[in-house]
Order: sequence, then C-alpha cells, then structure tokens
Amino acid sequence: MTIAIYAGSFDPITHGHLDIIKRSSSIFDKLIVGVYDRPEKRLLFSTEERLQMVKQATIHLKNVETQSYSGLTVDFAKNVGAKVMVRGLRMSSDFEREFEMAMMNKKLAPDIELVCFMASLEFQFLSSSLLKEVAQLGGCLENMVPDHVADALRKKFASELSQPSRK
Ligand code: ADP
Repeated sequence: MTIAIYAGSFDPITHGHLDIIKRSSSIFDKLIVGVYDRPEKRLLFSTEERLQMVKQATIHLKNVETQSYSGLTVDFAKNVGAKVMVRGLRMSSDFEREFEMAMMNKKLAPDIELVCFMASLEFQFLSSSLLKEVAQLGGCLENMVPDHVADALRKKFASELSQPSRK
C-alpha cells in the first residue's frame, strides 16, 4: 500500500489544492493531507480552522485523511508511513522554491520520493494569498474556493473590520 502526504499551509484551501488532492488520491492508495501548524508564520486562519476546512472539502474522498503537524515535513511523512510527498507546481511561481525544498528533503530523507503535479490550467494563477486579498476587498470568490471556505473568508474579514485597528 502506497501512502502519500500532501502538506501545506492551506490558508485557506482552494480549488487549486483540491484539484491536486483529487488527482493524487486517484493514484495513491491513501493520501494524508498535512496542515502545517506554523505558529511563526502569520496566517489568517488558525490551525484548527484550516484543518476543519480541508476536512469538509475532502469528506467525499474516501482514501483522503487530514491531520495537522508541526516540525519537519519529512518527519511527518515518516511518522504516518508515507513514501511519497506530493506537491503542486504552478508555471509562474513555484518551481525554484519547490526544487530547493526537494533537494533539502532528499538530503534529510533519501527514501521519500517527491511527486509533483502540474497545476491545471484553470488554477495556474490561483493562490491562497491572492484570494485573501480579493476576499478582503469584497471580490467574488466563485470557482476559487468551496462555498464553506468563501463563507469563512467573508466572516473573518467582517470580524476584522469590526475590530478596532491594530496599527
Ligand atoms: P506552502 O505554505 O507549503 O506553500 P500552500 O498551502 O501554499 O503551502 O501550498 C501547498 C502546495 O500546494 C504547494 O505545493 C503549492 O505549490 C501547491 N499549490 C498552491 N496553489 C496551487 C494551485 N492553484 N494549483 C496547484 N497547486 C497549488
């Protein structure tokens, strides 16, 4: 049985991430989505919120599980018995950083293979960071995120607007 992990911040999960999850879960016996618990990185959603959004978005995929993790991604892979790490590559932005990380991970854990999926054409320019900007400015999120994620974004920015400025 080949277990793969797909790790990331998922702040929040988008249709681009989901496309990679669907495609990889049809190839591997089991896919574990790892939601990175990264307290030092300024993220919009808490680890628990990101975890629940991924769980809800993947509930229909029977061989997909979701867990949060901290520390090295290769250690997470080893702990769950995964031989493969999945990543998604967008044409314009991802290659150099992914290549650098892949080389480092190979040094840290030579037995774990990286499998990269090319982002589908319609999701090439979709990133969590850009869509957060769109959401903050009240733009339409149709076809970018599942409905429950769009709702969570709207709520988050509505509550931020109602807070006094932190500057
Ligand atoms: P990280 O903080 O590790 O960059 P992300 O949640 O931003 O985490 O991304 C996780 C993985 O999903 C990365 O491999 C990233 O390149 C990939 N990814 C992000 N957006 C898309 C997209 N629109 N299409 C395909 N892959 C994507």
